[in-house]
Amino acid sequence: IQNKEIGWNYDNSYSRLPETLFESIEPAPVDSPNLVIFNQSLAESLGLNSKNLQSEEGVNVLAGNEVPEGTQPIAQAYAGHQFGNFTMLGDGRAVLLGEQITPSGERFDIQLKGSGRTPFSRGGDGRASLGPMLREYIISEAMHGLRIPTNRSLSVVTTGESVRRETELPGAVLTRVAASHLRIGTFEYAARWGSVEELRMLADYAIHRHYPDIEDNDDRYLALFEEVIKRQAALIAKWELVGFIHGVMNTDNMTISGETIDYGPCAFMDEYDPKTVFSSIDVQGRYAYQNQPPIGQWNLARFAEALLPLLHDDQEKAVELAVEVHSKYERLYHAHWLSGMRDKLGFHNEEEQDEPLIEDLLRIMEKHRADFTNTFRALTLDKPENTAMNDTTEFSHWYKQWQARLSRQEASKAAVSQLMKKSNPAVIPRNHRVEEALEAAVAKEDYSVMERLMDVLSDPYAYSPEQEEYAKLPETSRQPYRTFCGT
Ligand code: AMP
Ligand code: MG
Ligand code: MG
Repeated sequence: IQNKEIGWNYDNSYSRLPETLFESIEPAPVDSPNLVIFNQSLAESLGLNSKNLQSEEGVNVLAGNEVPEGTQPIAQAYAGHQFGNFTMLGDGRAVLLGEQITPSGERFDIQLKGSGRTPFSRGGDGRASLGPMLREYIISEAMHGLRIPTNRSLSVVTTGESVRRETELPGAVLTRVAASHLRIGTFEYAARWGSVEELRMLADYAIHRHYPDIEDNDDRYLALFEEVIKRQAALIAKWELVGFIHGVMNTDNMTISGETIDYGPCAFMDEYDPKTVFSSIDVQGRYAYQNQPPIGQWNLARFAEALLPLLHDDQEKAVELAVEVHSKYERLYHAHWLSGMRDKLGFHNEEEQDEPLIEDLLRIMEKHRADFTNTFRALTLDKPENTAMNDTTEFSHWYKQWQARLSRQEASKAAVSQLMKKSNPAVIPRNHRVEEALEAAVAKEDYSVMERLMDVLSDPYAYSPEQEEYAKLPETSRQPYRTFCGT
């Protein structure tokens, strides 16, 4: 197939970086590729030809059976701290086909996940099973709908092969689209195994690609650190504000671009409990909801350590500079969180007592196991009777204080409602709904359940009648929900 037929406007700037940072590799062909889901609007925004990409030849590209002309795929090297421990990693089951340059001149990584073994596969088979790839597709697209920076999903192709996990599962390849796949772990890798010159080239590359405004700064590496702090603080605040629990915030899963990446064990919280953990392997609760903001800060300290050789010739001075910038994270995070919470409660201005009022609500929600999303949804619709706490005097008291707070500001009722509707999603990818969609797709090859769910999640702030059904809680929710890393 011709590149222009699929709209493949290819570059691979990453492969011009030092060779220590990647390995050239071809995706392994699969038996019988079958396209099961395709993101037409994303394809079009990338300048790809969605009709031809869905043809037999196009699907061969999405399956890794055919590499477009001139394309030199690579697997990226990276390291990372996994649950606190430093390890060598790298793309063990992903191939970076290259970068698509869009009609408006933007650059996006196009990566095939589940496309076979690489030099970084260690004991793994390099493959992925259908359920988790569809799950990543649903949740990443839902995050995009929630207006949270994220990598996107272009397609899922089944391979016609089975992968061996605890049982035999249908194999699949996901095509993932990202601003880049540069991670904190990429820098940790370069700092540990590359020369200072190679580390500098990587940092310059990241600056050029993601933060061109600081390119001419004298202290551009310190500025890079600060920019990433800003993006990560903003991102993690957004997670907290919708009850998203990433589940595996290892430094290899934290991007330099500030996009959410790695949708393995993530899930959305139903009942509000700051200690919520879904991942079956996170037994200590390291990545619990309440720990995400401080873990973000911990991860950024690992980023700073990797950057140290670039910050100053005198390493003591470098540490001093890094510590000072690093200390900004807490304040930045808190400002994003507080401003987001003010929006969620309809506050157009700021009052000193806003934070205690917010904390009070959260405490009452926790005590009464109120659903996180639906509490804010009920407040948005001004239906306090729909919250789990409505019969309690503490909530009635809080509600009166909230109403009094709203009436002290100049904003009209309509303006309050408008702000709340765009800050409180009416729907999130509820765990039981996601499971139901996956079950229909994987067991019955019925993708209609997933398509309906994705349609509703594409605009979670719509407050449309079709969404009501999807706002409901699971009937039996006493069984704790468990998630698993990349199967
Ligand atoms: P994750 O927990 O998804 O961040 O993955 C951690 C590391 O394991 C990464 O280097 C992955 O590429 C690698 N990995 C995960 N699953 C497989 C697999 N089936 N085969 C080879 N490598 C894998
Ligand atoms: Mg990962
Ligand atoms: Mg993963």
